[in-house]
Amino acid sequence: MVVELVSVGTELLLGNIVNTNTQFLAEKCALLGLSMYHQVVVGDNHDRLAEVVETALKRSDIVILTGGLGPTEDDLTKEVCAEVLGMPLVEDPHTRERIEEYFRNSIYKEIPDNNWKQAVVPEGAIVLDNDNGTAPGLILEKDGKAAILLPGPPAELYPLFMKQVYPYLQNLQPEVIRSQMIKVCGMGESQVEDTLLDLIDKQSNPTIATYAKTGEVHIRVTAKAADEEAARQLVKPVVKEIKSRLGDCVYSTKENETLEMAVVRLLDKYGLTVTTAESCTGGLLSGRIVNVPGASDVFREGFITYSNKAKRKYLDVSKSTLKKYGAVSEQTAREMATGAVFATDSDTSVAVTGIAGPDGGTEEKPVGLVYIGTYMKDTVRVEQYQFKGNRAKVREQAVVKALDLLRRSILDNYR
Ligand code: ATP
Ligand code: MG
Repeated sequence: MVVELVSVGTELLLGNIVNTNTQFLAEKCALLGLSMYHQVVVGDNHDRLAEVVETALKRSDIVILTGGLGPTEDDLTKEVCAEVLGMPLVEDPHTRERIEEYFRNSIYKEIPDNNWKQAVVPEGAIVLDNDNGTAPGLILEKDGKAAILLPGPPAELYPLFMKQVYPYLQNLQPEVIRSQMIKVCGMGESQVEDTLLDLIDKQSNPTIATYAKTGEVHIRVTAKAADEEAARQLVKPVVKEIKSRLGDCVYSTKENETLEMAVVRLLDKYGLTVTTAESCTGGLLSGRIVNVPGASDVFREGFITYSNKAKRKYLDVSKSTLKKYGAVSEQTAREMATGAVFATDSDTSVAVTGIAGPDGGTEEKPVGLVYIGTYMKDTVRVEQYQFKGNRAKVREQAVVKALDLLRRSILDNYR
């Protein structure tokens, strides 16, 4: 089954907005095991859109269009698709009612006239209720092909797609696709591939795909089978083998679990509280921890001690340490981690000090040099890293390594 994506909107062509809808849909289609050979972006222009839709329906089985479903003059997607597929437009009473209800619950007193345009649908269309806007999604089926029209705003598109289109596409597939994610930290992509080389070489069903992220590698194992259980049985032994080979580098096998979520989960599991002490990451680390729902149970305090003075004042880093070894040193990281625990009476801490650049590097201490320390059970462990990249990259990698060091220290001490 071949699927094609068509993004409609002149603002996409002008670079005014980033085409995140395509990324979202492409990823979901891949998960569904659909083949995709084309993605097209076209402006809000009747003739060019008609040409794109005609071509797409010729070469693909399913065409998913996003954008141009709104009430304004330049929103043409529905009209053009109806025309190309030869379906007359008729009013859909259900959608009309939903639009009335939507406006009853909104700040608007009156329904703008042009909104009624959205109650009109191509005859025979499957109407997909939009819980977050007025334009419904539409599925137009004809001659074994389907055009799926979805609203442009991501806040409307994502839930509508997941709730109504994903199951529709799943049903079209004769085979069931199941995949499992394995998330890895502390090993580069090539190292992961080396470790899994024989598995990757002989893969067919399930397939093994690796994706490099900042400081992480994600591995997706995907199987096709006649039913759910059979697909699961194909995935299971491969995931088990990969996990045993990668050991503690695997931090999660859950699709939606981020590294910081895994860390919060572990802290919570062992009843630990943590305090952060950050220099070059300047709050990025605590920000990621606080992003996790439930962080309040484990996150004690966060210090941003950017200056030497702050390191001394809040974390009791000694003047002589700073003078003798410098702010970016193993000794300072050690004292920051210790100071953070004693200042807040937390169980554990993680401290980061480094040179994010672009200035401030020397031959002895180049840009990208970062020390990360963690205090646990009266012991401090400090690791030295040399990151590559610009200031933002160095800081981002430092946060990932800090989370990972904390994670590993918890495993080493409490598991
Ligand atoms: P509306 O009812 O808001 O007019 P619509 O279905 O007509 O919705 P568009 O008018 O094409 O959609 O786009 C509305 C907004 O949705 C855009 O301004 C943009 O913020 C977002 N959007 C549209 N297409 C995309 C896309 N491909 N990727 C990300 N965002 C998009
Ligand atoms: Mg619009």
